[in-house]
Order: sequence, then structure tokens, then C-alpha cells
Amino acid sequence: MDTRDLSSHTIYRAGRGIEETARELGVDPEELIKLSSNENALGPSPKAVEAIREHAEALHSYPKASHADLGEALAERWGVTPEQIWLANGGDGAMDCLARAMIDPGQAALVPDPDFTYHSMSVRYHHGEVHTYPLVEADGFKQSPDRILDAYDGERMIYLTSPHNPTGSTVSLAEVEEIAERTDDGTLVVVDEAYNEFADRPSAVELVEARDDVAVVRTFSKVYGLAGLRLGYAITPAEWADAYERINTPFSASEIACRAGLAALEDDEHVDAITDLVEWGREYYYEHLDAKTYETGGNFVLVEVGDASRVAQATKERGVIVRDCSSFGLPEHIRVSCGTREETRRAVETINEVL
Ligand SMILES: *Cc1c(COP(=O)(O)O)cnc(C)c1O
Repeated sequence: MDTRDLSSHTIYRAGRGIEETARELGVDPEELIKLSSNENALGPSPKAVEAIREHAEALHSYPKASHADLGEALAERWGVTPEQIWLANGGDGAMDCLARAMIDPGQAALVPDPDFTYHSMSVRYHHGEVHTYPLVEADGFKQSPDRILDAYDGERMIYLTSPHNPTGSTVSLAEVEEIAERTDDGTLVVVDEAYNEFADRPSAVELVEARDDVAVVRTFSKVYGLAGLRLGYAITPAEWADAYERINTPFSASEIACRAGLAALEDDEHVDAITDLVEWGREYYYEHLDAKTYETGGNFVLVEVGDASRVAQATKERGVIVRDCSSFGLPEHIRVSCGTREETRRAVETINEVL
């Protein structure tokens, strides 16, 4: 008795947590700062936390009303219909929904290399194949239409990420449109906008309204600071009608997640505070790190350090956890998230010392 052949499936390796690392180093978790998972440096939206407390007593019920309310609130925010909002267990869950709705066995998706691993993982789970297009350092890791179309071979889905993790590069609406325009009618262009609030760029949702071959993935994990809650969504073509109801896991976004999401959407104060802080942090990294940095639209910066695994290990021993990008195929780069001002300053000091 065995599972199906999973040998081509990769394992998602999350950045190590503070507690694990503290145990390994034999230090107090309080002494460590974690800038390896692009989490929100200001914590969760306070309004979301309040909503979670308030609705704890309702957890015996399935989340029907709250799910509908959040779908409607998001539809209103984006100017689409509630059927176009596919709520899911994180942005990752939304990718699963898209793959489930799109991929027949043996069809393929085209993803960037390097890339956030879950794009390809979700395609493989759904019996799809994965092809890649290269992001080239000399080009600033741009996801350029020409490069993508060179690699394109009729794949069913193409993943773009704007801002891209881990490089921070962004894609313009004109580029997304060009890619959608120059590919087959049956190819869906998915724009993963997990960090778009930090980029201050228009969302590709505009193109979802105008076309039937673009979808967008969004999450509450980053700008709203709700990574632990697991809430995200896709915004999908209007023509798909009831596809979501046919493929969604019943109640995949929990009562607490939906209530917290509704409250977070109203928490402009928290969003403004984190976006200001991130803007400051990126500039601080560009200016003060003694290493090459890349312009980023995200709440993190890619840094060329030479031997990433050595540098990440050495900063960790000095209490600063950063992301070694070897697992992304970038063994000379680390990725460091924007922390509080104090954390970001300490990260710069520590990285410079190690270099
Ligand atoms: C963090 C992230 C997501 C969203 O993750 P969830 O926590 O599952 O919502 C999606 N795409 C990228 C590129 C990310 O970095």
C-alpha cells in the first residue's frame, strides 16, 4: 500500500519560527528578531483581533452569513460580483481552487523560476505539470512579456507575481494585458498580488473586469497581519458563474477568519501604519546595507550577499533570522523583511557586520 507517485512534488519549507530557533541556539525567544517570512511587523489588525474575540461564542455554527458578508464586502471593494470572489484558506487555498477549476490531468502551468513554491505545488496536486520561465538577474528579475512568451507553449495557466517573492519585481497592467492578449483564449493569466498593497500600483483586478482570461490572488496574511488566520481569495472571471460552488471545500474560510477579514477591511489606520513603515524600511535597507539590493514593491528586500547560507547562519547566531534564498535557486541572495524601525536598524547592523 502506497500513496500515488509523489516524487515530483516538492515540500514547502517555511522560514523557521522564533521558538524553534531560540531552542536551537539556547537563547530567549525575546532576543531574536524574525525577518524571514514577510510577516506584518506591526502584528495583526487590532480591529480583526477585536472581532475574533467578539465572535468566539458563535463557533458552534457553520460560517454561512459571515462568508457571504465577506464575499459581498470584497465584491463591493473591487467592483465585481460576489460570485467572482473565491474565499479560501489563505492565498494558497485560493491557488488550489484555481488549479482545481482549471487543470485537467496532464495540462500544464507556466511559473517563474525563481518563484514562491506554492504556485507549482498546487498545480502538481491537481495532476498538472509545471513548466517554468526564467527571471534573469541582469534584467532585474523582471517578468517580461517577451521572456514569458518565449517559454509559453499553450499552458493552461500562467503565474505572475506582482510584487514577486523573493525578488520584489513588479509587473505593470500593460504587461499583464500584453501577456493575456498574446496567449491562447484557453490560457488563464493569474496575478498573485499577495504584496500589492505595499507596491502602490493598480491591481490587475481592472483586467479581470475587462477580460475573461485574467484572475487575481489576494491574501489577508501580509498587509492585514493575519497570516496565522489563513484567509485569502481569488478574483475570477465573471463568466465562470457557479464554478466556485462546484470546487470549493465547504466552509474553507472559517467563521473567525471571515469575521476578522470583515473587520480588517475597515482598519485603514493599521494599513496606513504598516505601509508607511514598509516604505521607510525598504529605503533604509537600500541606503544602509553594504551589499547590492534590488528595487522591491514588497515588504521585503532581496540582498546579494555572496554565500547566502553562511550569512543567514551567521546573522541567526547574532539573533536576526533572515531568509536564505538557496531554496529558491538563489544561493547568493538573502531576503529580509521590513521590521519595526528598531528591528530594521538592527538587521542592517547585523548583516553589515557579518559581511
Ligand atoms: C505570502 C504569499 C502568499 C499568500 O500566502 P497565504 O498566507 O497562503 O495567504 C501568496 N503568494 C506569495 C508570493 C506570498 O509570498
